[in-house]
Amino acid sequence: MNAFFSRSGVDKCDKAGIIEETEHNKLFRGDCQMPKGQKTCSKCSTANGPRAFVCKNCNQQFAFKPKTKEQKTTKLIRDFNWRELERGDKIKVSGGPYFVSNGDFIPMGYRGKFVVESIDAQGIRAWGLDKQSGFAHIYMGRDIQNNDTGIWKVKHKILKIKRKDTIQATN
Ligand SMILES: [Zn+2]
Repeated sequence: MNAFFSRSGVDKCDKAGIIEETEHNKLFRGDCQMPKGQKTCSKCSTANGPRAFVCKNCNQQFAFKPKTKEQKTTKLIRDFNWRELERGDKIKVSGGPYFVSNGDFIPMGYRGKFVVESIDAQGIRAWGLDKQSGFAHIYMGRDIQNNDTGIWKVKHKILKIKRKDTIQATN
C-alpha cells in the first residue's frame, strides 16, 4: 500500500514547482496508475491533494515551495566571466570579504541583487536593488588580508540573473 502516484502526476507537480523533493520527503515514483496530482506521504503512504501542506492522516509536513514570479521568468547563471558583465546586467551577490574575531565569522561583503554599472580591474561597480541600496564596489580581486585590520578581502560569489526567454534564444 504505497503506490498512490502515477509517474506523469509526479512529473507534472515537479514541473509546476509544487513539490520540492528533499531527503525527508521522497516522492514515490512507482508504476502504479493512481489519480493524477496527488502526493503520497513519505511516512504513512496516505494519498494527499497536490497542494496539501501536511498529511491528512499523520500530520507529516510536506516540503512545499511555490515559485515566485521572478523564479519562473529568470534563471541564475553560475558559470560566466564577471569581466564580461555589461551595464544593466542583474546579478545576485554573496560571499566576499570577512573578518574572524574570537572564532566568530563576520561577513563584510555585499549581498543581494545588484544592477551592474561598470566593471574595473578589482571588481564590479553596481547599484543595490534589494538588501543593499546605493552604490557598491563589489570586490572580485584576489584574496588578501589587510595587515592592520585583519580583514580578509576575498572575492564575492556572483550569479547572473538572466531572463529565461533570452537563454532559450541564445541556445
Ligand atoms: Zn502521513
